[in-house]
Amino acid sequence: MSTEASTTADVRDVIIVGSGPSGYTAAIYTARANLKPLLIAGSVTAGGELMNTTDVENYPGFPEGVMGPDLMENFEKQAARFGTEIEFEDVVSLELDGDIKSVTTGSGDTYRAKAIILSTGSAYRELGLENEKRLSGHGVSWCATCDGFFFKDQDIAVIGGGDSAMEEALFLTKFAKSVTVVHRREELKASKIMADRALAHEKIKFVWNSAVADVLGEDKVTGLKLRSTVDGTESQLDVTGVFVAIGNDPRVDLVKDVLELTEQGTIAVDGRSSKTSLPGVFAAGDVIDPSYRQAITAAGSGCVAALDVEHYLANHGA
Ligand code: NAP
Repeated sequence: MSTEASTTADVRDVIIVGSGPSGYTAAIYTARANLKPLLIAGSVTAGGELMNTTDVENYPGFPEGVMGPDLMENFEKQAARFGTEIEFEDVVSLELDGDIKSVTTGSGDTYRAKAIILSTGSAYRELGLENEKRLSGHGVSWCATCDGFFFKDQDIAVIGGGDSAMEEALFLTKFAKSVTVVHRREELKASKIMADRALAHEKIKFVWNSAVADVLGEDKVTGLKLRSTVDGTESQLDVTGVFVAIGNDPRVDLVKDVLELTEQGTIAVDGRSSKTSLPGVFAAGDVIDPSYRQAITAAGSGCVAALDVEHYLANHGA
């Protein structure tokens, strides 16, 4: 139903954009504060990055670990239990100036609110190679849990040296004949526990000091052209699959011209708060966090945003 002709009666207290741990935590807190939040969850990306993860071993409260999608389902249920309204839609534009903000979705509906919480998370980083894009879905992937199954008994490569790359590599050993981690340095950035696990795994090999110069293959991936970061020499690695796990960039496309951003490209907030450069606009989770980027820090940040919204509305006659 289009709400283009909405009146002030349609103005909500708060709309939350994004449905990762920060968005859902903000929803739980604002719903319990009786602010009747609307959470716009995204049509494909609902649940955020944890939907593409398997075991989450470091979220407190789950001593045996929890599967990422199960954790997000619980977040959603908890938010719904207190009356959060959830729409599985993509936001296509935002109007954030003025006392009443509006959010328009892909289906053309416009929702209005006195306060907005942006918890749009981050998106997979790409290598930036032409053939990476061309062969995306034909051997190049960003998600082992989504696509790993298609690489049964094959030799595959994982690019990156952080926790994401180790997690992808370890997961892919379930299917692949071999997994080669290609890293541009000679030591890993990953946490010790993840690095040690990957280094000890019999199916995982490492190619150090190497950057990907090209992804090879006509209709599907047949290999990688590697370039030494030490002396520039080139070599070829024969693989039929490539998983790119080189980090994420904050999703700020909708707001990059209206909100202040940090040098790292995240939405700038005031100190430890969630207050952005515009009154009534708050941000939480990976979209404000260039450093920690954990499910638990994102959840904590969503709580901060909810409390900031409560104070803001109390001071603005809600
Ligand atoms: P990250 O820690 O930023 O690591 C990215 C890795 O990719 C780095 O090793 C980086 O190399 C490399 N890289 C970046 N751009 C590259 C490029 N263009 N070409 C080749 N290599 C490139 O990112 P992340 O691994 O996604 O982790 C992000 C955060 O999420 C971290 O805080 C991490 O602890 C957390 N996380 C945690 C878990 C877990 O606890 N289970 C799982 C996944 C992620 P350099 O080392 O040279 O910079």
